[in-house]
Amino acid sequence: MNATAAVMYEVKKPLVIEDVELLEPGPHEVLARWVANGVCHSDYHVINGDSPHPLPVVLGHEAAGVVERVGAGVESVKPGDHVCSSYIPSCGKCWYCIAAGQPTMCALRDKPRWFMLDGTTRFRKSGTSLHHFLQVAGYATRSVLPEVSVIPIRKDAPLDVVCLVSCGVLAGAGPVFNRAKVPPGASVAVFGCGGVGLNTIQAARLVGAGKIIAVDVVPQKLAWAEEFGATHVVNAATEDPVARVQALSGTGGVDFAFEVVGTQQTIEQALASTHRGGTCVVVGVSPAGTRLSIDPGMILQQRVLTGSSFGGGHQRTDVPMLIDLYMSGKYKLDELITRRVPLTDLNLAFDLMLKGEVKRSVVVYE
Ligand SMILES: [Zn+2]
Ligand SMILES: [Zn+2]
Repeated sequence: MNATAAVMYEVKKPLVIEDVELLEPGPHEVLARWVANGVCHSDYHVINGDSPHPLPVVLGHEAAGVVERVGAGVESVKPGDHVCSSYIPSCGKCWYCIAAGQPTMCALRDKPRWFMLDGTTRFRKSGTSLHHFLQVAGYATRSVLPEVSVIPIRKDAPLDVVCLVSCGVLAGAGPVFNRAKVPPGASVAVFGCGGVGLNTIQAARLVGAGKIIAVDVVPQKLAWAEEFGATHVVNAATEDPVARVQALSGTGGVDFAFEVVGTQQTIEQALASTHRGGTCVVVGVSPAGTRLSIDPGMILQQRVLTGSSFGGGHQRTDVPMLIDLYMSGKYKLDELITRRVPLTDLNLAFDLMLKGEVKRSVVVYE
């Protein structure tokens, strides 16, 4: 069958929107018709070469759609079911999924993330095999995924909204619930107030954090941060964010700092803005090769430096949970979407993301 896809052939070149061939799903694979896919910075890391990746590849990893067909042995979904993509699969069988209770660390992460689990692809163009980014390939009208890479969701949720939960929303909110376990009244700083960081801020408000201090260098993003629950904002372009967060906290530093940018500087600043015994959670994805320079004294003072991947919890239940919160009016998703664009405008959507002019763009298919 055919699909229309945005194909990346070369680093730092526009994606090519074209018709491609899509093979049938194999055993334990699912054919999904995508309704929408959010535009995420992690795709851009591949486009500009910061995250080296085998080419050509169909990018996109924040998708929602409808199951069209399933391969042999698929038990968790059936045709007609609505699904979100899970850019980190969870097999439900490995040590991480069972004993460690950390399915976002699933052993399937050790396999190449651009193939089906059997090491082959399902996209073809003029006889050439196209890779599947993070086994999702959401910048296509249809794709085939491993069964473990789809999460069934309720059918009454709008797919062109809840696609955001498939990456940015869970990635930003999950660390608050799952990694930091922020208690009511705690002080929180969030470095980076884009489409992911706004969810960290929103989740901190949801759990009843006291001070929620938003840090960014773009005034527009700080204004958005206030809409999503920030109690204080700090413009790091005009003042020292560490000193300012420490002063605002009233306790020499915050209880929890979340880094949602992905640079050496912001990670080091986030850690330094916690008080002794505080916790810093890295959420932002740094370019390959990034290194930190940390005074070990910071750690000896019992600070915890940790990270969070895809929310750091149980993606199969966290995605439906966040969708339930949205559907019951307790979580903002519509307000995260600045633009809806057709696939043909995807390159433009990346340009606008880099200019900091959008919270999230969503590619919507016919
Ligand atoms: Zn993403
Ligand atoms: Zn597993």
